[in-house]
Formats: sequence, C-alpha cells, structure tokens
Amino acid sequence: MYKIVCKKCGKEFDSSRANRTTCDDCKVARNQMNMNFRNSAYDRVEVYLQKGQKEEIKAFLSELDISMSMNEFFRNAVTAYMEKLYNEHGNSDTTEE
Ligand SMILES: [Zn+2]
Repeated sequence: MYKIVCKKCGKEFDSSRANRTTCDDCKVARNQMNMNFRNSAYDRVEVYLQKGQKEEIKAFLSELDISMSMNEFFRNAVTAYMEKLYNEHGNSDTTEE
C-alpha cells in the first residue's frame, strides 16, 4: 500500500498502485463531469451489427492503413450516406427543366 496525497483535493489516501494521483472521490467527481459533458455535447446511438462485422470494419480500415476510430467511421459513414441520399432524392422540386 502506498500513501498518496491527492493532487486535486490534498487528502491523503491509500493505494495499491504508486502511480495514482487523485483519490477515489475526485476520480468519481471527474468521471461524473466527463459524463455530464458527454451527455450534453453528444447524442448517443446504439447500433447492432452482424456478428463479425465490427472486426471486418477494423480489418478493412487497417488494410487501407486508415487510422480512424469506430466512432469516426460511423459519423463519416452517416454523413456520406446522407449526402448520397440527398443527391439522389433531395432538392427534387427545384430541379431546372
Ligand atoms: Zn481528492
């Protein structure tokens, strides 16, 4: 056990790891803050993929040497698909004759 002084609140706490810098209370408070920020800044969507499809996507990106998170991949995919649909179906009543 290590005696560590929390760099956030200054309280001394016990830890089995020497590299901890903040106490459990401050860690929980920070996680809560991060979660609050995430919930206010982003909408969350749960997507079900066929078994193995996630690994296929990762392998595909890796094969093309593209460094991209799954989150980025899906955001880009949604944008690209919306543009495709818009070009196919959108703006139909303003087309010139
Ligand atoms: Zn603390």
